[in-house]
Amino acid sequence: MNPSLNPKRTIAELKELRALTGDENGAQRVAFTPTWIAARNWLKKKLSELPVEIHTDAAGNLWTTLRGESEKSLLIGGHIDSVPNGGWLDGCLNIVAGVEILRRINSQYNGKPPITIRLVDWADEEGARFGKSLFGSSACSGNLNLDEARGLKDKNGITLPDALKEVDVDFERVKDSGQELKNAAAYLELHIEQGPVLLDLDLPLGAVLGTFGVERHAITFHGQAAHSGSTPMKRRKDAFLAAAKMSPFVYQLAERFGGVCTIGSCTTKPGIVTSVVEECRITLDQRHLDSVALAKMLAEAKAASEKFAKEGNVKVSWERLWQIEPVLFDKNLIQLCADSISETCGKVHRLPSGPLHDAAEVARAGVPTVMMFAQSLHGISHNKIEDTKEEHLELCVTAFDKLAEKTMNWIQANAK
Ligand SMILES: [Zn+2]
Repeated sequence: MNPSLNPKRTIAELKELRALTGDENGAQRVAFTPTWIAARNWLKKKLSELPVEIHTDAAGNLWTTLRGESEKSLLIGGHIDSVPNGGWLDGCLNIVAGVEILRRINSQYNGKPPITIRLVDWADEEGARFGKSLFGSSACSGNLNLDEARGLKDKNGITLPDALKEVDVDFERVKDSGQELKNAAAYLELHIEQGPVLLDLDLPLGAVLGTFGVERHAITFHGQAAHSGSTPMKRRKDAFLAAAKMSPFVYQLAERFGGVCTIGSCTTKPGIVTSVVEECRITLDQRHLDSVALAKMLAEAKAASEKFAKEGNVKVSWERLWQIEPVLFDKNLIQLCADSISETCGKVHRLPSGPLHDAAEVARAGVPTVMMFAQSLHGISHNKIEDTKEEHLELCVTAFDKLAEKTMNWIQANAK
């Protein structure tokens, strides 16, 4: 470990931030609120000890730049915003560890590293207030749908453009943020896993392969309402029966293809105890890292729904609610990430990310990207019980710092 890197300081600063912006229910750094602004002011104060430039871009993302000899930039990203009653590590671990890495690089290279190093705090990653995740990073990548976002309102009826005005961001110009990626040569993001995979393997750290693609659909079976006493079983058109057969089927799909499938909601009409179900609507969420496998899981679910509908003499219709392609991270950077982990704590595990992250948006913008995960205790996040062992936090700062150094060298080698 480089002597100027102090992972214990990262833990102390994370606790400082928790004390400043959390309460007995957890972290309260919801984007664009006074607590979020307080968190950012705290961050700026930490950064002001370094010879860096700090500015907010057109989408409200906060950029900190340590200029190097080359304009080519290594980006390190995270998000200081949290969900209401959130955990103490989600998003801000990345930022606070990033500050420590900036300090190490600054000290090692006397304020002038060979390439430029930039730390970005993405605005409103969580989407807790307006229901739109990855706001700042999707504005920057150019993938944000402006027409859709313009109409978003919080629970008090305040629109996203009005909330942005409060923090001096002009909604109509948010995509100008894209110019920040001009010299970006690589993007790194550290994050807690938020799931139980590393915990179950008893490993502190993992190299992330990419983020799952998602297919989200509503499936409605249309049958016929009929009296539950007078209608013989074989004369029924029971929409629920057909929908219910989908449940074991999609579990088998997930097992066969190695993805995840969830039927997250089920509503029936007329929805009374004395009637056969006339209409049953279920939602299906399917995720996979491989787009071919994801497409197959979807096609098989569709075919099965038609088969079950036919068997039950009912009809079925599908409606796509949302979809996103899998995002694969950069092969070279995944290898550097795995090397950094194995040098720090031995065994490496490579895993996909179920949740989306800002890193997916940066990768979609064409910047070589990788993420590193730190184990989550309980496999739980978005909850005040979210936690990671302090020894694992120290290891993740050390390994992530190694990854930053290796990536700097990789960028320089590519430039030659
Ligand atoms: Zn996060």
